[in-house]
Amino acid sequence: MSLSGKVGVVTGSTSGIGLGVAKALAGQGAAILLNGFGDTDQIARLRAELADTAGVAVGYSDADISKPAQVAAMVTQAERELGGLDILVNNAGVQHVAPIEAFPDDQWDRIIAINLSGVFHCTKAAIPALRRRGWGRIVNIASAHGLVASANKAAYVAAKHGVLGLTKVAALELAGSGVTANAICPGWVRTPLVEQQLKDRAQREDRSLEAVTHDLLAEKQPMLAFTTPEQIGALAVFLCSDAAATITGAPLPIDGGWVAQ
Ligand code: NAD
Repeated sequence: MSLSGKVGVVTGSTSGIGLGVAKALAGQGAAILLNGFGDTDQIARLRAELADTAGVAVGYSDADISKPAQVAAMVTQAERELGGLDILVNNAGVQHVAPIEAFPDDQWDRIIAINLSGVFHCTKAAIPALRRRGWGRIVNIASAHGLVASANKAAYVAAKHGVLGLTKVAALELAGSGVTANAICPGWVRTPLVEQQLKDRAQREDRSLEAVTHDLLAEKQPMLAFTTPEQIGALAVFLCSDAAATITGAPLPIDGGWVAQ
């Protein structure tokens, strides 16, 4: 399939899953607006590499998705620099792990602001642009934690369950407009977000990284293998295809069997 002529905004695409999705969409010919934080030189290199390998226009916005005015400016930038907006991938997300009674209030507020309200701000800002094209795809990177819970992840699990609700509302409001809204629900993907959890656990339990990595998978993911950012990217590309034109409001697990249990 080809996404040539389409424009995609992928939030949180300077790292991990978002970068994998941006590469996959660009690989099918979509122009991309990257977004996220990080080292300025490294982001400039990423941008140039992606434009070079995929042969598409690649822009960058440093919008903080928890700030509505910055999000609106990001959508305007995509339209001005890349000629429109067809695909919104709500991917940016953060994590903090602690039991509820010790969960810091500022971490709760931060996670809800980015992982849930950020998805709302981006969706709200993008819908008029998507409606104007008469075709569009909203792909929310939720989580297995949008469907089931784990201890010590109150804010993250609450936010991801909220993202699934928001995805369904967007799907209903956009039905018949040519725009679909779906949620990808990954299990473990080995990105900096998970690497940090592995390091913290190895230190806390005084065990090797290999041993805690094995346990992390064994506790949740029966296939005992990580999903890759490339595989998530391929699923996002499928959701952008004509074959997926009537898939909307759906949570799609890609989790090695996590939520089958
Ligand atoms: P990551 O830490 O590698 O990347 C997160 C990205 O979000 C970075 O580009 C970062 O700069 C950006 N970001 C953070 N706060 C932002 C903000 N306020 N505004 C804009 N950008 C911001 O993490 P990842 O593992 O690739 O996670 C990406 C998404 O996938 C998250 O929503 C996460 O919850 C979800 N997810 C990850 C896993 C996993 O196992 N890694 C599993 C399920 C779901």
